[in-house]
Amino acid sequence: LLMAYDPARRLARLQVSMERAAVNARMIYEILDIEPHQRDRADAKPIRIEKAEIEFRNVSFAYGSGKSILNGVSFVAEGGRTTALVGPSGAGKSTVISLIPRFYDPEDGEILIDGQDIAHVTKQSLRNNLAYVSQQPYLFEGTIRDNIRYGRPEATDAEVEEAALLAYAHEFILDQPQGYDTPVGENGITLSGGQRQRLSIARALVRNAPILLLDEATSALDTESEQAVQKALEHAMSGRTVVVIAHRLSTVVNADKIIVMQSGAVAEEGTHDVLAGRIDGLYARLHNLQAPGGDPQEAGKETGE
Ligand code: ATP
Repeated sequence: LLMAYDPARRLARLQVSMERAAVNARMIYEILDIEPHQRDRADAKPIRIEKAEIEFRNVSFAYGSGKSILNGVSFVAEGGRTTALVGPSGAGKSTVISLIPRFYDPEDGEILIDGQDIAHVTKQSLRNNLAYVSQQPYLFEGTIRDNIRYGRPEATDAEVEEAALLAYAHEFILDQPQGYDTPVGENGITLSGGQRQRLSIARALVRNAPILLLDEATSALDTESEQAVQKALEHAMSGRTVVVIAHRLSTVVNADKIIVMQSGAVAEEGTHDVLAGRIDGLYARLHNLQAPGGDPQEAGKETGE
């Protein structure tokens, strides 16, 4: 019990959770950041996207000099398809996602997009091809229009509205006092969780990037919002390479491929039908533990620190 009050341990834990929150904010800022101030290798070239296929080849990773978090992770997220990452909390799903925009580089192994090692391409060209929708959508101080356009500053008003339509946001935006010019953020109007999610999906849609990284929300929305968000996501996912940290059973079941992670490694991969049919498989275990519509990540949390 005394351990729980150990200030050093508490500080260490706080540090990790602060760093994780910071990474989430960086994901949003930096993926969208179009300024070419990133340091690249001298021989870095712009990435050339064809199918937008992502391959992890034997990737190992640790944060700083800490314990190893990913150990030889290999998988292919096929172009234009949805790959769902599932597995217990702490298995390394968010870490996998954060390596794709190169917030961190692997210690070992490679990440390839259409056969090009992402360590050898310019970060700007890499990130220009990525969109990210987080669990906790972030709205900036500014109008609704500014917030959507942040996904691609040169987007026209018509393109902003087109994205809002596809994200099921257009109607509620028109219901706001000044429509698209209504201020949001700290000094603006308050939007519901579902409305904020749809704005962040519109922001991803206006980017029109071939790759979508998605951290599906765990927090429950009311049924109506939930359906609108779901439909908005279907539009955002269609025709793109999607890597999703899946929290909803329907996302997992509909994914073209499921990667089951455990303790920083790929434990299993396949479709829902194949994995659910493996009597002793981890996926089948996670799946059976969970109530219909529940959260597969909640079923088998990795315990202990
Ligand atoms: P969850 O579903 O809970 O988000 P996850 O499968 O996404 O879990 P990760 O977030 O990738 O797992 O975390 C894997 C491990 O890496 C955990 O032990 C976590 O504490 C650690 N970790 C994550 N981010 C950092 C960081 N910025 N610095 C140090 N350790 C980190």
